[in-house]
Amino acid sequence: MREFDLLVIGGGPAGYAGAIRAAQRGLKVALIEKRELGGTCLNRGCIPTKALFKAQEVLHLVQNAAQFGIKASFEGLDWNQVLKRKNQIVKRLTGGVGFLLRKAGAEIIQGVARFVDGNQIEVTKADESKEVLKARFIFLASGSRTALPPVKGLELEGVIDSEEALSLPSLPERLVVIGGGVIGMELACIFNTFGVQVEVIEMMPKILPPVDSEVTALLTEMVEKRGMKIHLEARVKAIQKVAKSLKVTFEKEGQEKEVQGDLVLIATGRKPLLEGLNIESTGIQVENGVPKTDSTMRTTVPHIYAIGDINGRHMLAHVAYKEAEVAVANLLGEKKYMDYRAVPNCVFCSPEVASVGLSEEEAIQKGFDVSIGKFPFRGCGKALIEGESEGFVKIIACKKTKEILGIHIIGPQASSLIAEATLAMALECTPQEIAETIHAHPTLPEATMEAAEAVFGAPLHF
Ligand code: FAD
Repeated sequence: MREFDLLVIGGGPAGYAGAIRAAQRGLKVALIEKRELGGTCLNRGCIPTKALFKAQEVLHLVQNAAQFGIKASFEGLDWNQVLKRKNQIVKRLTGGVGFLLRKAGAEIIQGVARFVDGNQIEVTKADESKEVLKARFIFLASGSRTALPPVKGLELEGVIDSEEALSLPSLPERLVVIGGGVIGMELACIFNTFGVQVEVIEMMPKILPPVDSEVTALLTEMVEKRGMKIHLEARVKAIQKVAKSLKVTFEKEGQEKEVQGDLVLIATGRKPLLEGLNIESTGIQVENGVPKTDSTMRTTVPHIYAIGDINGRHMLAHVAYKEAEVAVANLLGEKKYMDYRAVPNCVFCSPEVASVGLSEEEAIQKGFDVSIGKFPFRGCGKALIEGESEGFVKIIACKKTKEILGIHIIGPQASSLIAEATLAMALECTPQEIAETIHAHPTLPEATMEAAEAVFGAPLHF
């Protein structure tokens, strides 16, 4: 039987990052992957969605070129070319993951992994042959899958998940999205800009439930202006086939309502993927379908770590990368802990939304006496130059300690602007320190500086 220092189950951001880092440190590592290297993120998540997002940004720019004095006419969308470009980016990046694993000296094993016990894993390969491997340490990084809501009709043709939405043979005329969370809203915005009539059905009183209410209110207003319909506090009951359409029935304010679409996208969250792993054989404690982990990423069986979506903590690729690094450090005997206080969250809608830390509602609920600093992009020269002056930066600070509790951004390049905010929170900067830092002019980060000035004083340009 072949023996390894570390066996990694799953080749997504958590698994491949863990395998590369451990191999770089001299361990004998094998990574087992049943589908494509790169996992959900590279093949069916972050990368393909953002490739489509870029295409809709270009489309939006072309349609609005006149405001820059540019005469451009929109002659239509070549959906096949949009998909081709997306697939090329995915191929290039997944190929890169294979290259990096091999360069670091990690072995890649294509097959389905299943625990035999806490130290042995059986791999079933494509030709049905089996091999049992042994390891001193194991990283469980099997990721997550779409969580299905208790709705009748999910099996109908035309009811799709996010993976299928990313490779549609053609664009539908009408799309119903069930779930107004990050994945649902990102795809809703993309398809809406591509000319699809989109209706979103969300159970909660607002879209993107954990995001600051002022941000979601503006996003809702802006996407509705662009023609998207959003049904809030609406509970979907069933999906039925009616002639060539799909009818979605939902309950809102005690009344039964319905909408129709050519396709129905299920975007009601994701669930850790433990199926088929025979995790019971390891003795790992599993609570509500999630393997229990501590801040060193160890499960209750100390030589098995659970990193990435599987541990159900944040379900973000950038968190998965960091958890992998923490796990590698700990198995090498270096004490490292995951610190989740400053995790950026981005929503690639039009406009972009990004946040780190607490929302205003959360901060108040936790008993903080808050001080708010807000700066609108219409006061920022660079935002006007970009032609995107809607939105704002909002900083929530504690009046007493002056610490930053959260930073929320809606507007141009919010996903990039959140990096400064995240660093500020990770380093425990005060709003005053951000305000006193010289920011280049004219740039969008000046809006963050001015919001910081507004927390305990006044901004200069508004
Ligand atoms: P995964 O990437 O899911 O990888 C797990 C791997 O394990 C898979 O390749 C799977 O095939 C393999 N596997 C599972 N079981 C076995 C087995 N028994 N044997 C062998 N292999 C197995 N996150 C962001 O940070 N930013 C974004 O913009 C973003 N956008 C997203 C958009 C969509 C549509 C979706 C669905 C997700 C998005 N995410 C985003 C989330 C991100 O994709 C995940 O957080 C990330 O992929 C988690 O990495 P992971 O390694 O834990 O799991």
